[in-house]
Amino acid sequence: MNDAVPGGTPAGGRAHQEAHHGALGSRLNWLRAAVLGANDGIVSTAGLVVGVAGATTDRAALLTAGLSGLLAGSMSMAAGEYVSVSTQRDSERAALALERRELREQPEAELEELTELLERRGLSREVAREAAAQLTARDALRAHARVELGIDPDQLANPWHAAGASFLAFTVGALLPLLAIVLPPASWRLPVTVVSVLAALVVTGWISAGLGAAKPGRAVARNVAGGALAMGVTYAAGTLLGAAGV
Ligand SMILES: [Zn+2]
Repeated sequence: MNDAVPGGTPAGGRAHQEAHHGALGSRLNWLRAAVLGANDGIVSTAGLVVGVAGATTDRAALLTAGLSGLLAGSMSMAAGEYVSVSTQRDSERAALALERRELREQPEAELEELTELLERRGLSREVAREAAAQLTARDALRAHARVELGIDPDQLANPWHAAGASFLAFTVGALLPLLAIVLPPASWRLPVTVVSVLAALVVTGWISAGLGAAKPGRAVARNVAGGALAMGVTYAAGTLLGAAGV
């Protein structure tokens, strides 16, 4: 990655590159979360419908189970994401409020703090002092938020966006096993579902390994094995229940 941006002065090049890394990094995080959400939707819904298919050939039962699994899973994911991002945003807001108060009540100590933080990043004492003074004059709270807290006060994470994205990602993933078990004729249901689910897990495993810059082989094998295990276990349980006449 570091060799990907040639040219420019060393300092300017690095700063430029870091700005890009920031934006690219958050986009990659979103993409990774979306792929993981879809993967969850695929595996949990596939396990559910394959288990029910082990017990019954009734299409209405399969549709009901699959759709319930899709809705329950996507709403559970969305609610969990909403709670977690809300909590994160609350603590970021509290940190900003504290920072705002400190800036009001002890501006000198805060200027010194910002100076030291900039010094620690490699600036000389005088340059750090000058930079801190300029940043403070322009927008003290933003400077402290960025340098000290590592957050952008204008871009706090939105819990509704996070919840919506999780809901959507899980739903997209869950639709695959749901349609694969409901649409084909009875004798084709299981093979179509198992093959399409395993193929989809190859794709999601491959993409998430690529996003983490890891070698895809092992990640794909683990991902496919996880899905195969889920389907195998629920199918065995469903078959036993079906055979017992439950
Ligand atoms: Zn501060």
